[in-house]
This record gives sequence, structure tokens and C-alpha cells, in this order.
Amino acid sequence: MKISALASGSSGNCFYICNNKSGILIDCGITSKQVEERLDSIKQSPEKIKGIFVTHEHIDHIRGIDVLARKFNIPIFATKKTIASSFLCQNEDLLVPIKNDETVCIDGMNIEAFSKSHDASDPVSYKIKNGKVLSVVTDIGYACENVIDSVRDSDFLVIESNHDLDMLENGRYPYFLKARIKSDTGHLSNKNSALCVLEHAKSKMKNVVLAHLSENNNTPLAALDSFRLLKERRDLRPKVSLSLRNCMPLMKV
Ligand SMILES: [Zn+2]
Ligand SMILES: [Zn+2]
Repeated sequence: MKISALASGSSGNCFYICNNKSGILIDCGITSKQVEERLDSIKQSPEKIKGIFVTHEHIDHIRGIDVLARKFNIPIFATKKTIASSFLCQNEDLLVPIKNDETVCIDGMNIEAFSKSHDASDPVSYKIKNGKVLSVVTDIGYACENVIDSVRDSDFLVIESNHDLDMLENGRYPYFLKARIKSDTGHLSNKNSALCVLEHAKSKMKNVVLAHLSENNNTPLAALDSFRLLKERRDLRPKVSLSLRNCMPLMKV
């Protein structure tokens, strides 16, 4: 299995995951054209995509779904409430409702949905098993039990490292927005993200990719810096890297 973040952050989120046979997307918050260009840059083709798995209805996760899904006839997997609370696709035949704890199998990849804490109708994250275990966990107010389970299970973890708390508190966002981001249904700070990995990852975890960094309340350096905390665990030495606005190269899981 391999993964690339085609885009990550408040301007759009889209992860491409594939094995030798097929690929899937988790979210598509960039345009269909951007997906095609970025897949091309990592020598992959949109024809290989067998499913788009939606985490929740916020626009930075669904912007490009309608055009991409219709152009390449790709099924869209999302919870019933997510489908009901958003416009995902003109072609309703492509919509596949799933439960928030359902597992979907695509050519050897077992894609398991689990619910999480975020201010959307029925938000989920996904854990993908194909020999190794890969989890993509963004848009979480805090690390609930489901998130902790996925961190424990993962060989490869993509986790939100949204904001530096001092930057957020001293920044120019209005009070209500600061409160929303910090709440249990908002976004995970650098520190809480690093603590979650420090406390729950097993030593088999070899890669951590930091995702959904805020453009206003974070810097790549601050996010990476908070993960120095992992040094407290001698048995845990994952490679820590960043996914930003632009396409990240394909990484082996
Ligand atoms: Zn969101
Ligand atoms: Zn988001």
C-alpha cells in the first residue's frame, strides 16, 4: 500500500491511497483538475480510483467530488447523515451510504470507518488494512476512544496537527472562532496531536504525517517541533513528515 497527500490544510484536503490494483481517495477538497494534475505528477491515473471516501461535509473536504466522481464514474462512500446534509454529486447513483462503523473492501484494501468528534453531522475517519495498517485522522476536537484505537493499530499514521495554541490565542480570529477551534468538536492542536501519538502509538509505527495545518495559526516548524516530545519514548522512532497544500510524493506504508 502507498499513500500521497494530494492536498492538506484548510484550503483543501485529499489523500490518495493505492495498492497494485486499485486506488481510493479520502476526501476530495480540491478541484477535479487539481486531482488529475497531482496524480499525474506521482505517475498515477484517476482511472485507478475505485472509491471516494468522505469524512464529513465541510467544503475543504468535498469541493471537487461532484465533477471528479461523474467524470470517472467513481462511487462516493459517505454516511447517510453526511449525504443528507451536503451536496456531493448530481448523479445520485454514485452515492453509496455507509454506516459510521462499516468496513468496505476494495481489491484487498479493507477500509474501516469510525466516528470521531467534530462539528459536522456524522463525521468519520478511516483506517485501511492491507497487510499494514494506515489511518488518516483529521478534523478532530480531541482524541476520543476510536481515534486512540486507530493510533494504537497503525503502522502509518496521518494525524491532524492543526494549530499552535499560543498562535491561535494571540491571533486575529474572532473569539467565537477561537472557541470553536479549541472545542471538543473543533481541531487538534500540535501539542495534543503529539501527546496522542506519544501516549498511544505502538513501536511498530514507522511513519507519522502531520496534516490539516492551519495557515494562520501554525507553521510547519511549530508542528514538527511539538513532535520532539516523542523522544520521551525510546521504543518509538517514527519518521515524522508534513503534508501541506501541495502534493506529497507517494510513500510506502
Ligand atoms: Zn471539518
Ligand atoms: Zn477540514
